[in-house]
Amino acid sequence: MNNILNFETMEKILQKIKEYDRILIFRHFRPDGDAVGSTKGLQAILRATYPEKEILLCNDDYAQYLEFLGPEDGEIPEEKFADALGIAVDTGTIDRLSSKKFELCKETIKIDHHIDNNPYGDISWVEDFRSAACEMIAHFYDTFRDELVMTKDAAFYLYTGMVTDSGRFKYDGVTGDTLRLAGILLDQGINTEWLFANLYLDEFDQLKFKAHVLEKMQITENGVAYMIIDKAMQEEFNLTQEDASASISYLDSIKGCLSWLAFIESGDEKGTIRVRLRSRFVPINTVAENYRGGGHAYASGATVYTMEEVHSLIAEADAVIKEYKETHEGWL
Ligand code: AMP
Repeated sequence: MNNILNFETMEKILQKIKEYDRILIFRHFRPDGDAVGSTKGLQAILRATYPEKEILLCNDDYAQYLEFLGPEDGEIPEEKFADALGIAVDTGTIDRLSSKKFELCKETIKIDHHIDNNPYGDISWVEDFRSAACEMIAHFYDTFRDELVMTKDAAFYLYTGMVTDSGRFKYDGVTGDTLRLAGILLDQGINTEWLFANLYLDEFDQLKFKAHVLEKMQITENGVAYMIIDKAMQEEFNLTQEDASASISYLDSIKGCLSWLAFIESGDEKGTIRVRLRSRFVPINTVAENYRGGGHAYASGATVYTMEEVHSLIAEADAVIKEYKETHEGWL
């Protein structure tokens, strides 16, 4: 953590924001609450602070379950890029951006909280100890609060991402700073009952699917819980890819299972299988990185193409957990 260097980087970012009349904000594809919340939150702060500037979100895919956060900006005409500042938020690698037009911008900035294996952008501000990109945007606001304007909407978007990416303030990355910054947002008057209802109520069919996952999940010898959600199962329960992906959270509370994995078959010609990896106490991203993936120590993603790869990834995760259990105490 180098606070002085990071402060200088944040100052440079603010300076660039002031210089440009048009700012385009990008996030990763298959967006989650943090990706949508941080980009919409940044947009709302900048629009309130600089009403004369054009500030747009530039993305090609959207998450149905986050529609309660309101619409994004749709397609942006080609001519708007060449003189724009592009800011990518919550996106570890450039190939994970939802829109491929980021590099058309005149200058680019990366703001992210993932482990920085693939730096990009003319200016890069990465704090991988932050629980969420939304926490970084809240910190950015707090640092320059004499200059920047917070709104109730911006606070709502940012709080949403902080809640979702920290597992409701439960995960390891949550610090005193996380809660202090969340407090600043709450002071704006957030309807948390409505937010939590939108985020965490299940449809009846989804609950039936959850029961099925709990019934059918497997556990390896050393405590890796996993579930393979093939196309047939997705059809049987009438699941969207988002519904199927949510299954990862059904596996997260088993005593002794320090890691849990969900394999979601996409049904494309390449046989793509999305892997979601989670863990507690022991980092699992090293396994993700062996299978075209990455992310955070305790929450990462990967892509595999065959059942052989599925089983070798499970075996690798099992070996990581075995080694950890043999050499550490205090886990459960
Ligand atoms: P997910 O399970 O898709 O929610 O991913 C968990 C975290 O890992 C998120 O922060 C993702 O941005 C990140 N992640 C997922 N897949 C990849 C990948 N293939 N490469 C790098 N990071 C990833």
